[in-house]
Amino acid sequence: MMNEKNTFIVRCGEVALKGLNKPYFERMLVDRIKRALKKYDNVEVKRNEGLIFVKAPVDLDSDLIAGEISRVFGVASISPAIEVDSELDEIGKAAVGYMNDLIEKKGIKTFKIDAKRADKSFPVKSPDIARTIGAKVLIGCKALKVDVHVPDCLLFVDVRKDKSYIYEQKIMGYGGLPLGTNGKGMILLSGGIDSPVAAWMMAKRGMLIEAVHFHSYPYTSERAQEKTVDLARIVAGYCGRFKMHVINLLPIQESIVTNCPEEETTILVRRFMMKIAEKVAAQTDCCMLITGENLGQVASQTAEALVVTDHSVQMPVMRPLIAMDKIDIMDIAKNIGTYETSILPYEDCCTVFLPKHPVTKPKLEKILASESRLDVEKLIDDAVASKETVTIYPAD
Ligand code: ATP
Ligand code: MG
Repeated sequence: MMNEKNTFIVRCGEVALKGLNKPYFERMLVDRIKRALKKYDNVEVKRNEGLIFVKAPVDLDSDLIAGEISRVFGVASISPAIEVDSELDEIGKAAVGYMNDLIEKKGIKTFKIDAKRADKSFPVKSPDIARTIGAKVLIGCKALKVDVHVPDCLLFVDVRKDKSYIYEQKIMGYGGLPLGTNGKGMILLSGGIDSPVAAWMMAKRGMLIEAVHFHSYPYTSERAQEKTVDLARIVAGYCGRFKMHVINLLPIQESIVTNCPEEETTILVRRFMMKIAEKVAAQTDCCMLITGENLGQVASQTAEALVVTDHSVQMPVMRPLIAMDKIDIMDIAKNIGTYETSILPYEDCCTVFLPKHPVTKPKLEKILASESRLDVEKLIDDAVASKETVTIYPAD
């Protein structure tokens, strides 16, 4: 009989636009959906006709499953649906059952049917399918009237080769590409608003993530570090479990403060962060660095400062937030659930030894001259050697 399982129609976003590589991307997407649903028993995930169909036991909460699928990158949208045989009587019966349920749950009074025939060999054309099913619903649900303009329920009937689908909702996913289709990047992850969003954005394009976090213990507290772990765990909810390398930057900061002009502290520290991250990245198969830098946001992110920072490393540095406004970054942070944690007031290593008047237009030669007073290689090697690596698991 119909509906022994919850069915979910999953539409692929950009994956659907791929050419010859499409099967590869679809396979990766199916794999990622399976992983996201691994914790539930008896869930099936299959590709068919450019769509992905997920079937879950009916006793599983359909909103919960749809929610899990919606977080998988590469998913454009999801519709929880009823699956029936492609036969008008069966479709009609299922539509009546579906609508009666909605009358009870949501008190709907009007409806409209939107029918689509993906299988052109089906003997009845789309407008006629809509009319036939509409008539059956009117008979089966006496409380309902048709409203073609603003119906309380727009019911979709999607007739395919063997099976047809009835659904009402379209839950939006994030789009993007399946994780694992675009290498691995090393995010410099602070406890702020920006870097978790930057990590999320790159992961959304299919990039696996690994992270490096700097602290200045005991100037920064253990609680500040826990906050970064909390943030990382939220990000892991989207990009899966990942490694985070935690490094104490204090010896480097002290060496800079002792040997270099005060106003250059921040930019010099930033160059060290990048160099250390690059070294760890190279050891862990990461092909790029990622930061939450944003043009003009603070003194260390002016065009001139970014040039000087960029010169510190060979590896490409991705700055997905570079041209965004803060308000839009905050919107993403709220949407993905990192914002509330990011704004908790804990100190960051960047705020330790913060110069009163940081240079906003640093000159590369001058910064290099200051840096040459330091034993850069040794400081970096020591920092890398002292790293502590933790595995970040998705937040429940
Ligand atoms: P965020 O909200 O990400 O902290 P921010 O506006 O505070 O950004 P900065 O403190 O100047 O900016 O840092 C710029 C970028 O440098 C961050 O987005 C992040 O990628 C990296 N970064 C800053 N602090 C740290 C840290 N403690 N550990 C690792 N990376 C850091
Ligand atoms: Mg910061």
